Amino acid sequence: MEEAKRVKNLPPYLFAEIDKMINKAKENGVDVISFGIGDPDQPTPNYIVDSMIEAVQDPSTHSYPSYEGLYEYRDAVTNWYNERFSVDLDPDTEVISLIGSKEGIAHLPFCYINQDDYALVPDPGYPVYNTASLLAGGKVEKLPLKKENNFLVDLDSVDEEILKKAKLLFLNYPNNPTAATANEDFFKEMISYAKKYDFIIAHDSAYSEIYYEDNKPLSFLEVEGARDVGIEFGSLSKSFNMTGWRVGWAVGNEKIIDALGRIKTNIDSGIFEAIQKSAITALNGNGSAIESTCDIYKNRRNKIVDGLNELGWNINKNTATFYIWAEIPDSYSTGEEFSKKVFEETGVFFTPGIGYGDEGNKYVRIALTVNESRIEEALERLKNSNIFKG
Ligand SMILES: *Cc1c(COP(=O)(O)O)cnc(C)c1O
Repeated sequence: MEEAKRVKNLPPYLFAEIDKMINKAKENGVDVISFGIGDPDQPTPNYIVDSMIEAVQDPSTHSYPSYEGLYEYRDAVTNWYNERFSVDLDPDTEVISLIGSKEGIAHLPFCYINQDDYALVPDPGYPVYNTASLLAGGKVEKLPLKKENNFLVDLDSVDEEILKKAKLLFLNYPNNPTAATANEDFFKEMISYAKKYDFIIAHDSAYSEIYYEDNKPLSFLEVEGARDVGIEFGSLSKSFNMTGWRVGWAVGNEKIIDALGRIKTNIDSGIFEAIQKSAITALNGNGSAIESTCDIYKNRRNKIVDGLNELGWNINKNTATFYIWAEIPDSYSTGEEFSKKVFEETGVFFTPGIGYGDEGNKYVRIALTVNESRIEEALERLKNSNIFKG
């Protein structure tokens, strides 16, 4: 049986080879320390787990949920936006629940992309923006995120013919994998492009709560005009260590939220209501759970960046997300080569940046999802190797 073209043409999973390499090493008894994992290692906070236990014992949660989400959930998201960002939302028309933000990100192109329309997608970036746009039949214009632009999207350098055919721009700040953050002027510029060329902006704010200095990340919706052209995706996954629970939201432009809802009614049946109730508990908490999560990542970040720089690397401290986007030492030609050499010599794994797009070729991504004693062990192994001595 022949697969449909849309499936056959999906780009290959770049990490399949890497997974094989890591698994083989483990089978051979290597004590692997992987900085490749973009999934919090800390458990979901107890107050949320307790709330789940109670909710799941209530039979009223056991039926089909509604695709748009419990009103109480959308209201909790609304209150959280108001407190965190001073943004007012209408829970009836401007908020929709998602089975994790990935679900909404993957469905959005199906709402706006006709055959051969363009989606504008950052490179490097979260792979779903690209693959979902292709699955929807669209074309993808990659927007290189460059160090000299502080890893911000630069629309000035995109061909005007493509901007005219663009239907959708994906943005993501704080950014995975570069850890870059964006300010109000940047978002304003993006909004003026969206208005001029009539495309939608989808801002992915999965890491809005993971930050280490005083400059709290902005919501896209705080910026004037944002709601005319776009929506923002949010998630409890990274903020509350809830990646396995599958719960998130999209908020913003009423028409876009409605279109996303119409796709969803035809494909899924919403989030288990016990999970929505636990998510309400999470959002209504006092913020201390997020604070202690960020403290953990911050200590790890300091330890690993200081340690690696002492060994002779030259990398910067990320101010948000749990990723370090590190330019490889000069003596290596690609992130893949460097990553392979590090792994073979030490059993320590850094993700080659090319996995997130061609622009990542000279980088590796180091995730802060490894505890401090393992970080110390990794540093010790690197110190005793020849990695930084060439
Ligand atoms: C983790 C992640 C998501 C997905 O979050 P879910 O809500 O768990 O689906 C979305 N975007 C980026 C950039 C991420 O890193």
